[in-house]
Amino acid sequence: PTALFAPRANSAGVDLADPLVREPLPESMAELSDFSGWTAAPTAEAAPAAAPRPVTCPHDRTIVVGHCRDARPDEVSTMIERALSAQPEWDARGGAARAELLAAVADAYEAHRDAFLSLCQREAGKTLTDAVLELREAVDFLRYYAAEARRLFTPEGEALPGPTGESNRLTLHGRGAFVAIAPWNFPLAIFTGLIAGPLAAGNTVLAKPAEQTPLIADLAVRLFREAGMPDGVVQLVPGDGTVGAMLTGDPRIAGVAFTGSTETARAINRSLASRDGPLAQFVAETGGQNAMIVDSSALPEQVTRDVVASAFQSAGQRCSALRVLYLQDDIADAMLEMIRGAFEALVIGDPEDLTTDVGPVIDAEAKAALDAHVAAMRAAGHTVWQRELPQGCDRGTFVAPAIIQIDSIRQLEREHFGPVLHVARFAAADLEQVIADINAVGYGLTLGIHTRIDNTRRLVQARAKVGNLYVNRNQIGAVVGSQPFGGEGLSGTGPKAGGPHYVARFATERVACIDT
Ligand code: NAD
Repeated sequence: PTALFAPRANSAGVDLADPLVREPLPESMAELSDFSGWTAAPTAEAAPAAAPRPVTCPHDRTIVVGHCRDARPDEVSTMIERALSAQPEWDARGGAARAELLAAVADAYEAHRDAFLSLCQREAGKTLTDAVLELREAVDFLRYYAAEARRLFTPEGEALPGPTGESNRLTLHGRGAFVAIAPWNFPLAIFTGLIAGPLAAGNTVLAKPAEQTPLIADLAVRLFREAGMPDGVVQLVPGDGTVGAMLTGDPRIAGVAFTGSTETARAINRSLASRDGPLAQFVAETGGQNAMIVDSSALPEQVTRDVVASAFQSAGQRCSALRVLYLQDDIADAMLEMIRGAFEALVIGDPEDLTTDVGPVIDAEAKAALDAHVAAMRAAGHTVWQRELPQGCDRGTFVAPAIIQIDSIRQLEREHFGPVLHVARFAAADLEQVIADINAVGYGLTLGIHTRIDNTRRLVQARAKVGNLYVNRNQIGAVVGSQPFGGEGLSGTGPKAGGPHYVARFATERVACIDT
């Protein structure tokens, strides 16, 4: 392969600005919103089944969306065995055949649009806008990794230079059975990407969704199987971290594709290092402590819009979300007044209501941690602006959005994964110190900068240790193939999801040197 990018197109998505598309959507989604008779279960279900647990709705905990039966150790072991026996044939099919099936899954996702949108709202608490973006990203991952399978996994491989009379060829192959472990915050897009990447490379995949979002995952895996993936190629392994640990501690697996917190990534790394079996491949995309720097040359209206979107869209539950806003001191008061105005106008509530901007957080544990953080900052004397939660929010797990004034990013010990924005001020002469402080935190996921001064932009770009830099725009919503996404340091191992180096990381390289 020579070109870095294979030809393909991103999904057209769903145009919510078009009334002909938008208006019928709630009704067609409502027709598909009853999942109450549905139980997500391990692909290799063994009888007799234990009692399933209810999966409840983040914006109203009295609603049981559906059920899930988590995998037991004997089922996990059976599924690993099946994944191992299916892998050689899947690998031998070659990239083009695997690509065809991945592309068929993308089409099936689009055909099941309304069920996915509905599940994103009911099971994960997403607004319709977020649900639409999520489905689109999932489809893009499938088509992008399909194109990568075609580009990289050709039977003839790549010819390498050598002396006359000698043929040297490099070919890529699957490594074995991979484990994909996903977070709840992109229960469809990231879950799908973590499966499709290793699959494209010729591995079979044991897919463990987050314990909060097994139903979306169940539908996704069904569609992989219905598209024609042979038995054992993709299997659903529902359960919490103990099921994840069973998978990653098994000496039969070849590697792990993970997205989630930095702490869990460390636990998986330790488990992979201490088990027997092949030396495992580990690809992890983890947390962030993302900043945005705004200097006095920035356009205030644009900054306001981008800050509010970056910090509060998806209730701040994006790994890319803005956590610490740095405002140059001479514009800080005016800028904060505008940001506060937009903040006060955010509509908080039921994500199924089309006007809602900020929905619930994922569960009671997340809510408790965020509420405790805001209370601790208030108790420590920081100025805190916080919204009141509207009526009805007590039925779900909502966190009142907050803006907290701080002096430096160094005052935050960890990522706070929700609708909480911290704001610090800086003097123009201290810009380099601000960049050094952001780097010193050790995460390196996203960074925003708003400036109209090229030298400032260049300085930040040259010094900042981050995977994704956004200039004069919001810092969320990376597009597959255009903005490959992922961080460095505490934020991940690389390679970037939706980028040209991703799929090859799940493959092993072989070279044949033939004396002709
Ligand atoms: P989490 O780490 O709690 O859980 C992620 C997954 O790991 C879940 O499926 C969980 O069951 C599993 N797990 C937990 N303990 C395990 C163990 N010991 N062994 C194996 N698996 C285990 O993360 P979360 O709360 O689901 O997701 C939020 C986090 O994900 C945030 O830190 C966020 O920044 C990060 N995230 C990063 C990206 C990125 O691209 N960098 C994208 C989305 C989310």
